[in-house]
Amino acid sequence: MNIVPATHEAIEQAGEALRAGQLVVIPTETVYGLAADATNAEAVRAVFTAKQRPADNPLIVHIADWGQLGDVAAKIPPVALELMEHFWPGPLTVVLPKLKWIPEEVTAGLDSVAVRMPTHPVAREVIRAAGRPLAAPSANRFMQLSPTRADHVDPNIGDFAAMVLDGGPCEVGLESTVVDFSGDRPKLLRPGVISRQSMELVMGSELDTAVSDEPKKGPGMYRRHYAPRTPVRLVSKLGPEDVGIVLGNATGPGQISLGDDADAYSAHLYETLYDLDRKGVAEILVEIPPQTPEWEAVQDRLRKASHSGPED
Ligand code: AMP
Ligand code: MG
Repeated sequence: MNIVPATHEAIEQAGEALRAGQLVVIPTETVYGLAADATNAEAVRAVFTAKQRPADNPLIVHIADWGQLGDVAAKIPPVALELMEHFWPGPLTVVLPKLKWIPEEVTAGLDSVAVRMPTHPVAREVIRAAGRPLAAPSANRFMQLSPTRADHVDPNIGDFAAMVLDGGPCEVGLESTVVDFSGDRPKLLRPGVISRQSMELVMGSELDTAVSDEPKKGPGMYRRHYAPRTPVRLVSKLGPEDVGIVLGNATGPGQISLGDDADAYSAHLYETLYDLDRKGVAEILVEIPPQTPEWEAVQDRLRKASHSGPED
């Protein structure tokens, strides 16, 4: 795995590699992504192979400027535009009716496409250097933890890429909020640090919530996902002997406190689970965060990390 600092030169090389159909691991503000030229069906198929991701899980297309939105989406409802204008660039993905040219590999055959304009300067410069939108899911194997630092990228993934661009730790640390505007009413498909309330405030209306018995629309909707290899169990309080994550002060040597601020907690959750995963313990215990709206995204990821039933 070829990890390189994200210098101007390396970014130019990444752009060339992407144009030649190769994959590149890039930093974004959410998590590291395994990027491919979204206009190249073969390159996109290589992403699915590297991730061992089922072909029915669509990818998010990343753009660097507003002009590229018109290259991707066939129609933009006014309410979607309002949300994008407020939160872009940033950790918000919108699902819109797609233009015909987008390879069906990207959208898993759906007639909609998920689009995001990241704020991370390296992600934006790579998209510009490639000169086209990039399809990029998280740079991890299907169901595994998303990497939030270059050195947390699984070599099994990194080896498929021409290079892993190191842009430092991801500031947001959780996957983007996903809102679907392709149906009659806007629907929250995946909670993220851009909260439901902040979006409803901007939209002036309520967001529907995806229910799990509808046809699967993406990997974020699998019940088990974003999981370390070590089993994770949610508990109300850790004892001094327990290994895991606490909200308040640590009371034992195996405990890491992520504090009680939801955004700061989100920023460090995956890297902490990654570190705990490597301790070789039988189980990682995590204190259940408050059942309040600002913790919705963390609750969602912890539920998925701790789900031990059938994989979907
Ligand atoms: P990931 O790339 O792993 O961060 O996840 C992609 C997410 O985007 C999934 O959770 C889906 O909810 C969503 N997604 C991507 N494309 C579509 C689409 N065409 N329709 C609905 N959801 C989509
Ligand atoms: Mg993912």
